[in-house]
Amino acid sequence: MNTNINNTALPDEAALEKLANELFRQADTGNGIPGQEVVAQQAIPPSVAGSGQSPAGILHGNNINIDNPQTGFPDKNLQDINSSSIAGDSLFSPALRLKEYLPYEADPAHLFNLQAILSLIPVDNGMGLQLPGTVDHALEDVPAYYFLESKPALVSSWGFDAYAVKKDFPILSEHVNGKPLVWLDNAATTQKPQQVIDRISHYYQHENSNIHRAAHELAARATDAYEDARKKVQTFINAGSPNEIVFVRGTTEGINLVAKSWGEQYLQPGDEIIITHLEHHANIVPWQQLADKKGLKLRVVPVDDDGQVLLDEYAKLLNSKTKLVAFTQVSNALGTITPAHTIIELAHQAGAKVLLDGAQSVSHMRTDVRSLNADWFVFSGHKVFGPTGIGVLYGKEDLLNQTAPWQGGGNMIKDVTFEHTEYHNAPTRFEAGTGNIADAVGLGAAIDYVNKLGIDNIALYEHYLLEYATRLLRQVPGLQLIGTAKEKASVLSFTLQGYSNDQVGQALNKEGIAVRTGHHCAQPILRRFGLESTVRPSLAFYNTCADVDLLVATLLQLRAAKR
Ligand code: PMP
Repeated sequence: MNTNINNTALPDEAALEKLANELFRQADTGNGIPGQEVVAQQAIPPSVAGSGQSPAGILHGNNINIDNPQTGFPDKNLQDINSSSIAGDSLFSPALRLKEYLPYEADPAHLFNLQAILSLIPVDNGMGLQLPGTVDHALEDVPAYYFLESKPALVSSWGFDAYAVKKDFPILSEHVNGKPLVWLDNAATTQKPQQVIDRISHYYQHENSNIHRAAHELAARATDAYEDARKKVQTFINAGSPNEIVFVRGTTEGINLVAKSWGEQYLQPGDEIIITHLEHHANIVPWQQLADKKGLKLRVVPVDDDGQVLLDEYAKLLNSKTKLVAFTQVSNALGTITPAHTIIELAHQAGAKVLLDGAQSVSHMRTDVRSLNADWFVFSGHKVFGPTGIGVLYGKEDLLNQTAPWQGGGNMIKDVTFEHTEYHNAPTRFEAGTGNIADAVGLGAAIDYVNKLGIDNIALYEHYLLEYATRLLRQVPGLQLIGTAKEKASVLSFTLQGYSNDQVGQALNKEGIAVRTGHHCAQPILRRFGLESTVRPSLAFYNTCADVDLLVATLLQLRAAKR
């Protein structure tokens, strides 16, 4: 069981109430804080049918340009890089970063209040957590993340403004139960910026056609848009060629594709597949099905009480029969970031292939498939601010071409006779039939959007936000965080004493806060912690400290009601 849980002495009722009130006040007042941020809905643009312009184009005063899409907000990051008087490495020095470039820097009133709040929070000696009077000190021991270490130049500006970013997502102006929506269910799916919505609409208004096989103008437009999206994915994850990017329905389909094509073709009875205890059902069930069918052995790497993969146990499982290691880069239930480079390297040393599940990592950290060196990498468009129904299977080109297709039909063939069919090489080899063209194009627009913000800026901002949220949640009496790995992204799973997880979810929903409760399609890892479900808030770059404040204040109120 997890022994690393906060064992803070309970604060008295008055202090709890004061803290809750302060957090609510922050969420309700102040410049740019959501309570006041009930912005007027953007005017719906007039019909653009036949004009050759997209709604976004009209809003922005020109035609949409997919090579240089507009996000509708000034790109502070770029301006800061150009105009900054502070150069390169010095910006990355922890002191400067923490003192002058806090994520909520744009809101000094909030920063000031945070100091007041932190002084109310009891020191958690059990965790060795010290909370002195200033935020700067409180955050000084934030661990450095490996994926940021080597890229100081890329995080050289802290113009990241989550409040401005939030305005790009129309749904985040919704009201739920009379309260502004606070979307903290990002691990389940992310919201879509106007740019993505517009791009899909533009596709259906001006480009819609089947692709690859017609001589007319719209077929050319649609094919260009689809193949352009493939190139955007290639660049985004640093694949060597667009041929390595196969469009699929999502992570689940990508994993099933590998199991049912490569797995069926190459694995033999007695072969072994290694997964970790952290896996989503999508990275368990297909391998189990294959193991049952072909007489394979499925082996599971255990995790420690913080939810971290035990590398020495993993090393013991590797042997000459290991043919595949399939694991997640970030756990959707606990938020653990796994040591992907090491796991992949050890697997390759043992002669095994590796599939990396990027469903929960791709929106939170830079993906470089060539540096990772996994043989396959899968992710879902809807978890990276793109549409549902589209995802990506990256595979090394030779490997894809040495693998027989899993589905047969149009688009994937070079030549068909009744006796024999000759297949295309990847990627169309694995894209039988008419794919999800419009949503692939939408995914391309989502990638443009993420690139505009800068994935390293996103990673750093979210890192601070997660740290902030973790520290506040630890102060809620009776709240047990599940998943306390040193390296985490986005996810804050917990249980609250005295309440079922559904009760907590419903109470949060009354305040407009959306979180997931349940088993998160990862039953084995929750059972490892003796649980069938948790409450799971999960963060994205459009979340703010005020969102977290509202969450914590609501939980404190719930607790106070039980005293
Ligand atoms: N793997 C992980 C780690 C996930 O979080 C998810 C979605 N929750 C999946 C796989 C499956 O993704 P999808 O449902 O989009 O196919």
